[in-house]
This record gives sequence, structure tokens and C-alpha cells, in this order.
Amino acid sequence: MIDKLAGEPRLRVALQKSGKLSEGSIELLNKCNFNLHPLKNHYLIHSRELNTDFLMVRDDDIPGFIDSRVCDIGIIGENLFVEYQLSGRNQNVEIISRLKFAHCRLSIAVTVDGLIKTIADLNGKTIATSYPAILKDYLYKNNISANIIVMHGSVELAPKIGIAQAVCDLVSTGTTLKENGLIELAVLLESEAVLVGHRECTSDVQSIIRELDFRFQSVIKAKNKKYIMLHIEKAKLGLLKDILPGCEAPTILELHGYPDKVVVHVVSEDTLFWNTITNLKKIGASSILSIAIEKMMD
Ligand code: AMP
Repeated sequence: MIDKLAGEPRLRVALQKSGKLSEGSIELLNKCNFNLHPLKNHYLIHSRELNTDFLMVRDDDIPGFIDSRVCDIGIIGENLFVEYQLSGRNQNVEIISRLKFAHCRLSIAVTVDGLIKTIADLNGKTIATSYPAILKDYLYKNNISANIIVMHGSVELAPKIGIAQAVCDLVSTGTTLKENGLIELAVLLESEAVLVGHRECTSDVQSIIRELDFRFQSVIKAKNKKYIMLHIEKAKLGLLKDILPGCEAPTILELHGYPDKVVVHVVSEDTLFWNTITNLKKIGASSILSIAIEKMMD
């Protein structure tokens, strides 16, 4: 899009206004210097950062907005992207990059009473879903003939109210299924948030998209990573490599006044670090510092 007054290209980004992806999208953008604090009635937000405007909309409107070039790019769940692809809609929309949040899976779930034990038992049954194209594709590939009813919300209630024997819905923690007496039978798709754009992106905004995605990837790379500093005896350095993942190429510095010891700096996965702290202590590591990393660039 071109800003008619300033004559400069402006990037228009579609974001989910409310729902599972909106919080993660705003958090990621704010780590990239965008200071967004959308209010309930904010539908269009102008930002000075990277000449970017944000359109706050329903997530299922986003692929269509990009396809018709109302917006240049958007953040949606991969589940929605695949559903639109398989249903033949918005074929001009493509994934630019994966954003590593809003992880979930699209699964078929059935009631815990055990009447449906295998996917073959779905033959002749009715399955409720908001993802009819993905489900249809899965059933076809598995040679199953079942009825599909489309629901745009509260899919998990379908068996309870007697309109379906199974559901095909997004699962994150599994709490919703459990609360409704359902168990997963098959996973159709693993999904996460993705940055999408038009296949033939107009050249005037291409450089802004590249810069934005560079910032996204720098933040994503640093996620769950810690910068670890510790003191250790030189003789134990070899053991450290086995204990601390990521320690293949550490920075090693002299420790003033302690000729037998060194200071080690290394980037490590946060979760792995907690699991290894006991082993680090066992080999005599001391003065251990763990610092959050905001961004990582090659
Ligand atoms: P959970 O109880 O954590 O398994 O979450 C399941 C409920 O949240 C279902 O109603 C899903 O439709 C919805 N849900 C979970 N993860 C996502 C996601 N990434 N995107 C959209 N909806 C989701």
C-alpha cells in the first residue's frame, strides 16, 4: 500500500483481533519494537515503526484479505491456512515463515465410552468440525465414509447434544476434550502461528516484510534461550561439554587470581539448563549466572 500523503510505501498487516493468536501476535510484535496496545474498538492501528499499519480482524477473514490485497501480510494459525488451501480458497496466499507460538493439533476425538475404538469405526458416523476440508481429505485418504457437520464454535459439545458421535477440533492442553468426556483418536495436523502473504507480493513493501521477518526470527531464536556464565576448573572443561547442551563452542576467559579456573560463557536452552544444574554443581561449577536473551542474530 502507498501512503497517499507521504508517498512512502506502507505495509498493511492483518492480525486476529481477539482469540488464541492475538495475544501471541501482539507480544511478538512488541518485542520487535512496535509498542502495540490495541483497545476493544481499535480496528486500524498506525505505527511509525517500519511504516506499518495493523488491521485487527477475525482470523478467518485474514487469508481473503491477503488474497484480495486488502492487506499485504497477516498472522494466522497454520490450521486455517491448510483448511483454506484444501478447500480451494485463496490459493494466492503462502506461508512466509513459522512463528513458533500458538502450537496446537487438529485431532479427531470420540466419547470415552469406547464405542469408537479405531478410525475404521468412524465409518457411517457423524463428525462435527470447523475444519471440513482437512477432515474430508483425511477421511478420503483413509478410505472412511463418514458424515461431516460444520460448526463454527463449541464443537466439543456436539456428542453431548447428540448431533455427532465424534469431533474434529483443535487441541492444545487437552483440557476441553477431557471436560467434555472426549479422548483423541487421531491427529490430523500439527499447527502453529504462521506469517502469510500474497504469492506475488508488491515490490514496494517487500523490503519492509523482509525486515519485519528478520526481527521476528531474531526474537524467536532467542526464545527459551539463556546466556549462561560460570566458573569451573580448567581440568573439568571436557566434562562440561557432555553436561551443558550448546557448549560445543563456548567462550572461555581467564579468571583473574585463579590460574586453575576459567570463566565459561555459553548459550543454552532454558529447560535443559534447569535439568543440568545438579550435574554442573557435581563437577564443581560455581558463580553460575543465567541471563535472558532478548534477540539472537547470526
Ligand atoms: P485446550 O483445552 O487447551 O486443549 O484448548 C482447546 C480449545 O481451544 C478448543 O476449543 C480449540 O478450538 C481452542 N484452541 C486451542 N489452541 C488453539 C489455537 N492454537 N488456535 C485456535 N484455537 C485453539
